[in-house]
Amino acid sequence: MMKITSAEFIKSAVWLPQYPPAIMPEIAFIGRSNVGKSSLMNALVGRKQLAKTSQTPGRTQLVNFFTVNDSISFVDLPGYGFAKVSRSVKKDWGDMIETYLRERKNLAMVVFILDIRRDPSNDDLSLRDWLEYYRIPFTAVLTKSDKLSNNQAIGRKKIIEKLLGANAQKKTILFSAKTKKGREDLWEIIENHLSSLQSH
Ligand code: GDP
Repeated sequence: MMKITSAEFIKSAVWLPQYPPAIMPEIAFIGRSNVGKSSLMNALVGRKQLAKTSQTPGRTQLVNFFTVNDSISFVDLPGYGFAKVSRSVKKDWGDMIETYLRERKNLAMVVFILDIRRDPSNDDLSLRDWLEYYRIPFTAVLTKSDKLSNNQAIGRKKIIEKLLGANAQKKTILFSAKTKKGREDLWEIIENHLSSLQSH
């Protein structure tokens, strides 16, 4: 059981020169707008308002940095796929996310958040392609699982894993910010991954 002793907001950034120093291993959280990313991050650290849940989907257009237990960095990447924005704003989001994934030296792992009730969108599949292209380890987390029965959730997990492809088949997690289901599983994956990095 992961004990959270501190969770702090560090800063928001748009481009690389504004990122804080790369001194701790970093876990990035990413998913389409309104998927439940802020709720997941808050549930993970047990804070109500660490990451701001979005009133207006698509409003968070910054890369937000946090530290947890003074030893892990968390990054909240802009939610993509919000329909009601212009093409140029969409391109800015894409650039922001790809720059981060390509350039961030201390990026240890991506938590790739999907709504358990929806098939991966084209934007989700592009993200998966980037993660594979840049060889960034990721875990797919299927959130809002409380909205389905256990059996339905297991069925959806199989379908989504298949649609995401081979690299996602090992450690997809069923999650709910509402019931906290999957919280310990996700921490275990994060901690195991971080300790495997240290032993290299
Ligand atoms: P973000 O835009 O990805 O950061 O999404 P938010 O965390 O703001 O969540 C979007 C909406 O989904 C809000 O109304 C949340 O209350 C709701 N939500 C998020 N996670 C869950 C979940 O696990 N279960 C349920 N039932 N609702 C959720």
